[in-house]
Amino acid sequence: MNIQSLTQKALQKEELTIAEGLYLYTHANLAELMFVADVLRSQIRPDNVVTWIIDRNVNITNVCISRCLFCNFHVPLHHPKTYITCIDEYSQKISELEQLGGDQLLIQGGMNPKLGLDFYLDLFSELKARHPNIKLHALGPPEIVFLAQKAHISYTEVLEKLTDAGMDSLPGAGAEILSNDIRKKISPGKCSADEWLDVMREAHKMNITTSATMMYGHIESIEDRIAHLVKLRELQSEKTENSAGFTAFIPWPFYSAGTKLGQIFPNNYSINHEEYIRMIAISRIMLTNIPNIQASWLTVGLPTAQICLHAGAHDLGSIMIEENVVSQAGAGFRTNKDDIQKAITEAGFTPRLRNQKYEYGDT
Ligand code: SF4
Repeated sequence: MNIQSLTQKALQKEELTIAEGLYLYTHANLAELMFVADVLRSQIRPDNVVTWIIDRNVNITNVCISRCLFCNFHVPLHHPKTYITCIDEYSQKISELEQLGGDQLLIQGGMNPKLGLDFYLDLFSELKARHPNIKLHALGPPEIVFLAQKAHISYTEVLEKLTDAGMDSLPGAGAEILSNDIRKKISPGKCSADEWLDVMREAHKMNITTSATMMYGHIESIEDRIAHLVKLRELQSEKTENSAGFTAFIPWPFYSAGTKLGQIFPNNYSINHEEYIRMIAISRIMLTNIPNIQASWLTVGLPTAQICLHAGAHDLGSIMIEENVVSQAGAGFRTNKDDIQKAITEAGFTPRLRNQKYEYGDT
């Protein structure tokens, strides 16, 4: 195994094994990784377009049984500061979003034992009745597992009912690192890696558009990260041609400020930007069958995200009008419509607004 043979293999779009990806990640210099990833990106996006979207992240409730050690947002069921977002609040937030030109609401947990499947079905139906044009990019595999267990029905049945009620797509939230052992330590109440993948497999069979994520930089090894990428690639290869599957992969670094996990593995505000660019590049190289790699400007800032556009990424995600979880652990970056387009142009690309299916829209 050597860098030259592996980069050649990657440039021919051959799938690298975990051992090969690990070798490349740990032995190639950043420029070599960026070069290969950029060639692959330019083949996927010969028009040099970098996409972005306007959406808003709303949390349904701050009560969550997952007890993630990296999360400062959740509270236990009987905490005095629990909340459940009411329908009028959603409506107000959606109206503000629509005024800014956005049409996607990213709806996330927590997993509140008081809220079962009927609550979500009513919520999604009511949101669609009030705001028929809004796209609901809602929940994630951990919530689907939670709701299926609560209702004693299959993942497929939960997904069918939710899509009938108005769910448009399923975010790849809660993937963290797809290793059962790591998840038990950092998210004791969350679904296992196998369950996360099983939900996505069912979603892909139903042609539900999904995405995939990774939160790295805590207790995992580099090999765990590369294995995570291979698991996603293998699952994506199972889907039929007609299914959208994972439209995008979005990695972000762990922010430790104030978190229990940070007491075990403190890295407060010292996010390693070179490592993030390296992660983006190796993601582009390993994920031969996932079309879009997104740089998370929200967690690394626009300047680093701009460099990522030369390292395999061609999407900057949302200008994110509201976000509650990573921002409460120290990721405090903000941007707006003008600045994100300026950043893309400055980096040498053409900005295009997209929808949740990564189709171009009007800017
Ligand atoms: S990160 Fe999400 S799933 Fe984990 S405890 Fe916080 S709200 Fe719950």
